[in-house]
Amino acid sequence: MISPNGFLPQSIPGSNVRVVFSPGALDRLGEIVAAEGRKRVLLVSDPGIREAGHEERAVRSLYRANLPVKVFDEVGENPTNVHVGKGVIAARPFGPDVIVGLGGGSAMDCGKGINFILTNGGKIHDYWGVNKAAKPLLPFVAVPTTAGTGSDAQSAALITDAETHQKMACWDEKCLPRLAILDPQLTATQPRKVAAATGIDAVTHAVESSASTKRNDVSRELSKRAWELLEPAYERAVRDPSDEWARQQMLLGSHVAGAAIQNSMLGAAHALANGLTAVAGVVHGVAVGMMMPHVIRFNAAGADGGNPYADLMPDAEALSRRIEIMLDSGEIPRRLADAGVDTSDPQVLPKMAQIAAKQWTATFNPRPVTEADLLQIYRMAL
Ligand SMILES: [Zn+2]
Repeated sequence: MISPNGFLPQSIPGSNVRVVFSPGALDRLGEIVAAEGRKRVLLVSDPGIREAGHEERAVRSLYRANLPVKVFDEVGENPTNVHVGKGVIAARPFGPDVIVGLGGGSAMDCGKGINFILTNGGKIHDYWGVNKAAKPLLPFVAVPTTAGTGSDAQSAALITDAETHQKMACWDEKCLPRLAILDPQLTATQPRKVAAATGIDAVTHAVESSASTKRNDVSRELSKRAWELLEPAYERAVRDPSDEWARQQMLLGSHVAGAAIQNSMLGAAHALANGLTAVAGVVHGVAVGMMMPHVIRFNAAGADGGNPYADLMPDAEALSRRIEIMLDSGEIPRRLADAGVDTSDPQVLPKMAQIAAKQWTATFNPRPVTEADLLQIYRMAL
């Protein structure tokens, strides 16, 4: 695996995204982008990133490298077609030849969404699905400020329809970031709650991708490496934002887990999490984290070939318990009611199970799941 040494892009075996992994790398953004032969930069970010001062650092670095930059920083949480449309309007007259997404999953995904429309026209709905773009996209540089989503290693943009609230996964191999700039200084400013939720999301990416029906030799190696980076660092990163070793492990681990998903898929915990988010508004990382131990137990009980998570830990029950300890240290609830789900309403769980059963990710779970199974797994978390 790679180590933090300098500002030259390195390769991770099994991933086509080159990585610059160094504390302070954001201050070298200009020279890194210029070395790629790029001349006009669209910088996509959000108001929180501006307030944290990261945006100004990025712009200064681009100016030092004599690169004209257009900033679009009106991205909201869970970016919609409206955010993407505004970004396109801001970007078009400027004519960028590279897009930099600076922020959490929202800013990166919005930048990818803008990229589709700038290069291929139409509206974002046209790219919902797999490989819908006919023409090449602009090179995309991902600079994550949270350690979690792994969007910096993936070909997908998740954009929500502002009217129907439908989440549209726009997956296109041309959408894969050309470069990821991993600067562990950036995650020092994230609130503890965000670090806990995004960090456990990255952990579940390593766990689910390691056992999915789509896993292969390449993805298994990536899932294993991600787990080895994330597992020993999670508690330290959550407890102490000044712990640089832990932040480095989490940021690289989150990226490698994203690369594992890119080569594999996820499973039932992500399907169940989408039900929780849609019905009860539970934050993605919290939702997926609280379902993970139950999904591991459900899958291990039904696997004829033994523990489907054996790449990570020989004993599935021990893996479940390890994740429960992580949840406790991140102060992430383990019971549905504690996460704000109205469990007194008999309609709520069946409604969530109905949504979960429609999720694509459920089809890659190592043990086949029906709507009734998903309902049963929710009940395990009562
Ligand atoms: Zn996730």
